[in-house]
Amino acid sequence: MKYRKDLDKMPSYDGVERDYRIKVNANECNLNLPPLVEERVLSRLSRVAFNRYPNYEYDSLREQIARNFSVDIEQILLGSGSSEIIEKIFYAFGGSASNKIVYPQPSFSMYKIYSKAAEAQPVPFDLDDSYNLDVDKFITIIKKENPALAVVCNPNNPTGNALTVEQIEEIAKSIKDIDCAFLVDEAYVEFYGKSSVNLVKNYPNLIIARTFSKAYGLAAARVGYMIANKEVTKMIEKTYMPYHLNSLSLATADIVYQMRDEFVPRIQMMISERKRMSEQLKGLKGVTVYPSNTNFILIHYDKAVDLNDYLESLNIGVRSFGSAPRLENCLRISMGTREENDELFKVVKTFVSKH
Ligand SMILES: *Cc1c(COP(=O)(O)O)cnc(C)c1O
Repeated sequence: MKYRKDLDKMPSYDGVERDYRIKVNANECNLNLPPLVEERVLSRLSRVAFNRYPNYEYDSLREQIARNFSVDIEQILLGSGSSEIIEKIFYAFGGSASNKIVYPQPSFSMYKIYSKAAEAQPVPFDLDDSYNLDVDKFITIIKKENPALAVVCNPNNPTGNALTVEQIEEIAKSIKDIDCAFLVDEAYVEFYGKSSVNLVKNYPNLIIARTFSKAYGLAAARVGYMIANKEVTKMIEKTYMPYHLNSLSLATADIVYQMRDEFVPRIQMMISERKRMSEQLKGLKGVTVYPSNTNFILIHYDKAVDLNDYLESLNIGVRSFGSAPRLENCLRISMGTREENDELFKVVKTFVSKH
């Protein structure tokens, strides 16, 4: 059949999901909504106008987010997960091989796929051996390539490390004059605490993408948002279909956002678990633990493939990167509950001591 050119060559997102007993492979929150929040969500859902297109719910959530960041409602766009937002941003700045998109690697694997889907030219830039981004070199590459869009994930998935807000500002400032849009994907920012949102007012090229899927444990609802200047949101909005988010998800996210203080203790818990697990894993022979500002930890271990098989055999799912470039023998472990983390550590420790 007459499919779009090169569609057969497009990689699929390798999200083979299993119902693991301990599921720490997708950076999800392993706790369902706090009971108080769940109660309010269910009561709110019973009042949804199922017969209406989602106008009211869309603007109500936008308004709430705008108020929190002291920006205008026109500066906020919502998406079906930040995935939709990122995809649409790539689409808006793509459309031709001369429209380049620069992003660091290793980073979120979808940047390459979205670049190709948008018919833009992906230009990956290598992180250094410790997975740090050399900001000066990154700026130099951007100036040389003159891309339509530059992207960083901050903190970075899957490496876990983060740039400072000053470094983000340095990039934004340096590439403003070449009219390069700059997307900062803040999917894990709640575990880091240092957002670049406040830079938006000074940098017309800056776009911040956020999600409800990670810290707020709302992956099922698929809700994300972006913050940028009005001129930018107006253009990105053209790429959306009307009513791309449903009222059920919007009403749910609205309550979650209203009650976001309820999530602070568990975010703190994930951060302390990350610190605890990092220290423990560091004590294992042959295991390298990378510094993390997220709800997951990246480790390197020579027998990572065997360790992953062993974990799988016990119905424990972590993210193995197989032979992905620069991530050979690396495993990414999301923080579960304290009990889950304890059990996972025990299993890893047993494996390492036997090999
Ligand atoms: C999880 C994730 C997202 C998107 O998640 P959504 O569920 O689509 O909001 C975006 N960027 C990165 C780096 C992620 O890890």
